[in-house]
Amino acid sequence: MAQKKPDCERYRVPVGGSFRLSTIDTDDDQDLDRDEARKRLSLNHEQMQEYQQRLYAEGRQSLLLVLQAMDTGGKDSTIRKVAGVLNPQGCHVTGFKAPTDEELAHDFLWRVHDHVPRRGQIGIFNRSHYEDVLVVRVHKLVTPDLIERHYGHINDFERLLVDHGVRVVKIMLHISKEYQLKRLRRRLERPDKHWKFNPGDLEERKRWDEYMESFEIALNRCSTDHAPWYVVPAEKRWFRDMLVSEILVKALTDMDPRYPKPEFDLTRYTPQSIS
Ligand code: AMP
Ligand code: MG
Repeated sequence: MAQKKPDCERYRVPVGGSFRLSTIDTDDDQDLDRDEARKRLSLNHEQMQEYQQRLYAEGRQSLLLVLQAMDTGGKDSTIRKVAGVLNPQGCHVTGFKAPTDEELAHDFLWRVHDHVPRRGQIGIFNRSHYEDVLVVRVHKLVTPDLIERHYGHINDFERLLVDHGVRVVKIMLHISKEYQLKRLRRRLERPDKHWKFNPGDLEERKRWDEYMESFEIALNRCSTDHAPWYVVPAEKRWFRDMLVSEILVKALTDMDPRYPKPEFDLTRYTPQSIS
């Protein structure tokens, strides 16, 4: 049987504001075969490695992957499984926790801007400036008026990055509330996962609906042509990993980084002529 191709465009949030999270089945796998998906992931890994090298050699553009999810949504393991194959010299992962006093003394993008990948590099954000329209909105940490302005600030910020050669790809790893409970229970069942259990997550869980509402607003207002959002079903982890790699390969293919032309005279320097 011919292998079915995964379709990632199905999960791209359209520009314009009518997207509903409920239209994405968090357990979806497009009826793909798990082993085939694994093979596809490793092919994608090879492509990512090749593109990363070209990106580095070219030194003109960079790729930023923004990952957001509810607690237990799988951000850490996605980064490990998808980006673990990249050359660490050309890839930088940044996690964003609750802001420090110093960070709070600045605008919300101040701490983020510094971690945007330089030309030639791949950057991954484990949480991001979107926390300022998610947790900050749910907990009303700033005034509603300011939250309202944040969406525009984010779109302008991402436009700025794109104008300066940064490809911005944003992925929400989408899970259900029931699945989260399973994952939280698992953290308690397994001694090697206890360190990941944070009683505070139970408090956030009570606000699930408010988080979903905040995600939906952010996705609708900030999925743009220049910096699209994808909502990836994240409960089947083999499907999630393959799909995220698929989205990255697609972005890199589109960026089409090229090895630079040699700046020396190729007729003068040949493998035989040097010693
Ligand atoms: P974790 O990713 O599990 O280590 O948790 C990081 C925590 O930092 C999460 O609870 C986030 O909601 C929180 N956090 C990240 N950014 C912000 C922010 N801008 N304001 C408030 N809390 C934040
Ligand atoms: Mg956590």
